[in-house]
Amino acid sequence: MQLHNFNSGPSILPQEVLEKAAAAIHNFNNTGLSILEIGHRTSHFVEVVKEAQTIVKRLMDIGDDYEVLFLQGGATMQFMQVPMNLLDENGLAAICDNGVWGNKAVKEASLFGPVKVVSDTADKKHTYINKALDIPSNATYLHITTNNTVEGTQWHSYPQTSALLVGDMSSDIFCRPTNFKAFDLMYAGAQKNMGAAGVTMVVVKKEILGKTNRKIPAILDYRKHIEAGSLLNTPPVFSIYVSLLTLRWIEAQGGLAAMEKLNLAKSNLLYNTIDSLSAFHCPIAKEDRSIMNAVFFLTDASKEEAFLALCKTEGMIGVKGYRTVGGIRVSMYNALPYSSVEAFCNLMKSFAEKI
Ligand SMILES: *Cc1c(COP(=O)(O)O)cnc(C)c1O
Repeated sequence: MQLHNFNSGPSILPQEVLEKAAAAIHNFNNTGLSILEIGHRTSHFVEVVKEAQTIVKRLMDIGDDYEVLFLQGGATMQFMQVPMNLLDENGLAAICDNGVWGNKAVKEASLFGPVKVVSDTADKKHTYINKALDIPSNATYLHITTNNTVEGTQWHSYPQTSALLVGDMSSDIFCRPTNFKAFDLMYAGAQKNMGAAGVTMVVVKKEILGKTNRKIPAILDYRKHIEAGSLLNTPPVFSIYVSLLTLRWIEAQGGLAAMEKLNLAKSNLLYNTIDSLSAFHCPIAKEDRSIMNAVFFLTDASKEEAFLALCKTEGMIGVKGYRTVGGIRVSMYNALPYSSVEAFCNLMKSFAEKI
């Protein structure tokens, strides 16, 4: 049976990336050694990091005022590393709490300085994005989660602010052309849209660092990682290599414009199907729907179990909603083919006809 991988993360990767990664485990770059066996300071691996940084800058259309780092600790570590590097008692972090991940960013930032939640969409179970933000004029930075992986909402244009703009882009990085220059710091765990688990990409504008008087341990100090060319200590070599393969794949497909075309085709098909069937409903405000993660429900909740059982027998992987949200979540990251969404929509239609 053909499987369709809608996992929310770690998630589907391009077949070609998996094949090249597998080959590199046996023989990396004709060195006769596995990628798992080479030193991280060899020219072979230094080139991997450099090429990955170059492609990221090209895709983002950003210049040398930004640095690209490949760090560990997941996006979750960025919830504390960002405020540790940018915030102190004299500053203020303005944060949008639009769901599970934004909420964690709020909690962690509070350990490092004053925080103001400038948007809390819990009143409507995070089914929309509040764009009318009241950002205090003394805010050091505004933090947004560009795509709310769990709740199924996405910022389709970014808020204007005189504060620094920080984006958690873990689940929609490189899904379409974006004004990356609007951001001063961006981060993304690789395991959703750009690679394997174990590495987190951080893109930061150099000039914003070193403004707090806090003492920062070297391993958590972005400046130390920048000085060391993202090789401060042994980095997650294999995960970085899988990210490089995925970045190359994105460019070979035609870059971010090609990603957007595919992602819009998939998400339009899915949302149109949901909206056309009375057996399903999507509570997310239309203008805020995510093109990466669609969250929706069976109109008759008692039918959910039967639908999920059918998905299982038909090879639809990872479509059960997040534990606190319930319902169905279909993740449609870059590597997911259009045909998988088509197959899923056909299944929804045949299920709706039978109930
Ligand atoms: C998955 C996710 C995280 C957490 O990532 P980890 O790598 O598990 O720490 C944070 N933010 C967003 C938006 C996510 O989707």
